[in-house]
Amino acid sequence: MAPFYVTTPIFYVNAAPHLGHAYSGIAADVMARHHRQRRDDTFFLTGTDEHGEPVADAAKALGLEPRELADRNAERFRSLWPVLEVSNDFFIRTSDPEHGAKVQEVLQRVYDNGHVYKGLYEGWYCPRCADFKVENEIAEGNRCPIHEIPLVREQEENWFFRLSTFQEDLERLYAERPDFVGPPERRNEAMAFIGSGLDDVSLTRAKLTWGVPVPWDPGHVFYVWFDALLNYYTALAYARDGEDLTAEFWPATYHLIGKDILKFHTVFWPALLLAAELPLPHHVFVHGFLLGGDGRKMSKSLGNVLDPFEVIERYGADALRFYLLRDVTFGGDGATSMDAVRSRYESELANELGNLASRTIAMVVRYRDGRVPTGALDAALAADFDGLAEAVGARIDRADLTGALEEIWQRVRRLNRYVEERAPWTLARADGGADELDEVLRSLAEGLRVVMVLLAPWLPETAERLLGVLGRPSLALADARLGAAVPERVVALEPLFPKQP
Ligand SMILES: [Zn+2]
Repeated sequence: MAPFYVTTPIFYVNAAPHLGHAYSGIAADVMARHHRQRRDDTFFLTGTDEHGEPVADAAKALGLEPRELADRNAERFRSLWPVLEVSNDFFIRTSDPEHGAKVQEVLQRVYDNGHVYKGLYEGWYCPRCADFKVENEIAEGNRCPIHEIPLVREQEENWFFRLSTFQEDLERLYAERPDFVGPPERRNEAMAFIGSGLDDVSLTRAKLTWGVPVPWDPGHVFYVWFDALLNYYTALAYARDGEDLTAEFWPATYHLIGKDILKFHTVFWPALLLAAELPLPHHVFVHGFLLGGDGRKMSKSLGNVLDPFEVIERYGADALRFYLLRDVTFGGDGATSMDAVRSRYESELANELGNLASRTIAMVVRYRDGRVPTGALDAALAADFDGLAEAVGARIDRADLTGALEEIWQRVRRLNRYVEERAPWTLARADGGADELDEVLRSLAEGLRVVMVLLAPWLPETAERLLGVLGRPSLALADARLGAAVPERVVALEPLFPKQP
């Protein structure tokens, strides 16, 4: 039993939840569910990033206090997760007082360790990113490359974090730990950023009050990014009533992030932890962007937005989870569309998995009255399942969530081929075919159970239903071996993935 701690980015509370948020949450959920199957001590964190100028400005425009707006908007994210079957253990809000106190404690230590000084900052600032942009991050016409809005020239007296003094430490970190950041192209991007020379960065803002106050200079609040990054650490101190989980779960096993926040997580974050003398996370994994069906960035005006709620309404949350991690290789960018969802749903979920389940169960009901025959399993089929659970686990350990799913899916296809090869309907009519039919039905029922246990992190609702019908509800990875828990009886099954209009 090892500890496993996975996080999503915390989402900026002004945004409306969209497919990109769902994507990070689903990916982290697949990892968390898989580790629970291993019986690892698992902790899964997500939440909202609530401080900073954009929230303060938006609240003012609505005649609200920032806290009121944050309360209202945080709820939209909190209520998103159950709809997606995302099983986070805690939902942090950076406006939680416990978080603020812990941020002050850690950053006071950074200050006491001599990594902070006062200076004058002037630069191009994007209010939506809440970030000053360095030269190579400024798009044509002095615009933010992410938000495409004009940048503002800002100057203020700030406390600075001596990021520049961590250059060598960061270079050593990347040299010593090739798997600190993945996939490799993102690691190269982070290393190039570090190699190009690091400037000190603003740690505080003077003009703002909606933030965590700086303990050594009460006129300032911490720059929202540092406050936000620390959520991964602070949450452990108060996520469970009366317990501090920090010693058990820190450092995090995986931070999953989108590539737009790479610099903060692969450069600022490890440097800050070093400055605070805290252990560094094991892995930061950067996923790509989900694009419109035309391969362009999703935007309402292009009409190429895939709405996760519409997918769920039509095909269910399992189908959305499956589609996102199957159709787009996790770690890369990929086009998405309702047509592609339908295609995966019909050709794979309904025709391959759904069909395998319905004919296996129907045959056991028809030929053996619902009783799974006793006896041996097909040895050749069993050989094709050897080492499967380990192979899936090894891929998940590398955040290869698409590759892990493909490993399992090859066995779904193998089982369907097995049905065709052995033609149980012919055996049922043949003289002396009874023993062979017993072996085939038993092997199929057990193979179906094993693939469904392994698929549970991607398809949690389907797994619960199907394993219930097979009378073997255990999700333990130890049971994901052929022969570990052969079903004894099955009951009739409604289609898992019914035809949709
Ligand atoms: Zn921006």
